[in-house]
Amino acid sequence: MSNFGKQIYGLIGYPVKHSFSAAMHNAAFLHFGINAQYRLFEVKPQELKDFFSSAHEKGIRGFNVTIPHKENAVAFLDEKSFGVAEIGATNTVRIDNDGKLKGFNTDYAGFSRDIKELNVNVERTAILGAGGAAKAVVFALAKKGAAEIAVFDIDASRSGDLVKKIKQMFPECKVHAVDSVEALRIPEKTFLVNATPLGMKEDDPLLVEEEMLHKNLFIYDLIYNPAQTKLLETAKQKGLRVSNGLKMLLYQGMLAFEHWTGNPAPERVMFHALGEALRQ
Ligand code: NAP
Repeated sequence: MSNFGKQIYGLIGYPVKHSFSAAMHNAAFLHFGINAQYRLFEVKPQELKDFFSSAHEKGIRGFNVTIPHKENAVAFLDEKSFGVAEIGATNTVRIDNDGKLKGFNTDYAGFSRDIKELNVNVERTAILGAGGAAKAVVFALAKKGAAEIAVFDIDASRSGDLVKKIKQMFPECKVHAVDSVEALRIPEKTFLVNATPLGMKEDDPLLVEEEMLHKNLFIYDLIYNPAQTKLLETAKQKGLRVSNGLKMLLYQGMLAFEHWTGNPAPERVMFHALGEALRQ
């Protein structure tokens, strides 16, 4: 495939060291014979505005957005799909032929699809973390009709802001910020989501006490590398139903691919590429 007329897609973040999305999207482009490449763009916060205004000229047709830009990027969009304004974050941008930038939140949609397929009882949910991913998760759960959501973040202002926003949108949902893991009252919950990065490193502590885990609790860890965090391993040993965030990553990527190309995403191809990249 020549570089002539190559469509450029990619990921913006700071820093961007490694991305599994590149493997997934490049495999999908190859599958359809699309002359396109997914690249990594290191964009500093002070360069964000410039990146958005010059992306179309540079031949970029779409990109994913990651830490620390998911929230600040919303201000530079011409159009927002459902969820972006509500969540206050975008992780996928499409650039149309006229240069217009449309933002999506496929984290929200990917998570929603996965928990639907897993048939999780979200009635009483506890969330660890209130960062970018947690915002999409809490919105998805409130929209799905969770009766109660408790959120804990070490940064109380973040959980406070998230809860305030969700309360306004979903007055029927009992959502509250708590100041400790104990106050999440996990023994009374049906669903626990880890939306913190804790568990990615081998020596990361287990955030919850083992005694809090019970048979009626489903545990979802957004982390997919490692495939089994200490939290999931402990829960599995106790016989709980668990899931990591791999399918959420796949589904958000598939939706991004569909928004960008208009083609149905090749699920098996993308899943296989993801698995290969994770094994390396
Ligand atoms: P983020 O914006 O940095 O948010 C993480 C939040 O958790 C921060 O507010 C952080 O506070 C808080 N936190 C850290 N340690 C904590 C602790 N011990 N107790 C409670 N809260 C704590 O990150 P993110 O983008 O939301 O991502 C979170 C995780 O989800 C990452 O592991 C990421 O890889 C994963 N993720 C997965 C998918 C997927 O498709 N599966 C998609 C998005 C994200 P401080 O900033 O003060 O440390």
